[in-house]
Amino acid sequence: MADRALRIALVAHDAKKEALVGWAQAWSEALARHRLCGTGTSAGEVMEACPGLRVEELLSGPKGGDLQVGARIAARELDALVFFPDPESPHPHENDVQALVRISLLADIPVALNRTSADHLAEAMFVVRGQG
Ligand code: PGA
Repeated sequence: MADRALRIALVAHDAKKEALVGWAQAWSEALARHRLCGTGTSAGEVMEACPGLRVEELLSGPKGGDLQVGARIAARELDALVFFPDPESPHPHENDVQALVRISLLADIPVALNRTSADHLAEAMFVVRGQG
């Protein structure tokens, strides 16, 4: 990947926010060199846990935040998506979640759906670039 700031979106359902925050803490030094946005609560929790990170806060997921992230992906304004969905509970905005996954597939951007894949994504994006 080109040696420029990447545009990365962070989204996690409530049961997976701790996992997202843990990932962001582990990679905070590298993430600080990139442009982050996220659904409202996810963005807020990451910033609270990682004072060095600025995460643009979009709407909360149930209020349309997933759709905002999806619109950015459709417009080719994001380079990667870290999205930790909760596979064990139903969500009122399930359609939005599906739309987010679908547009990520269409746009063919890297997507990490759990901590292990997010670590691999970070290694590929940051360590290869000498930023790990
Ligand atoms: P949240 O939204 O970060 O505002 O909780 C995530 C989601 O539920 O999709």
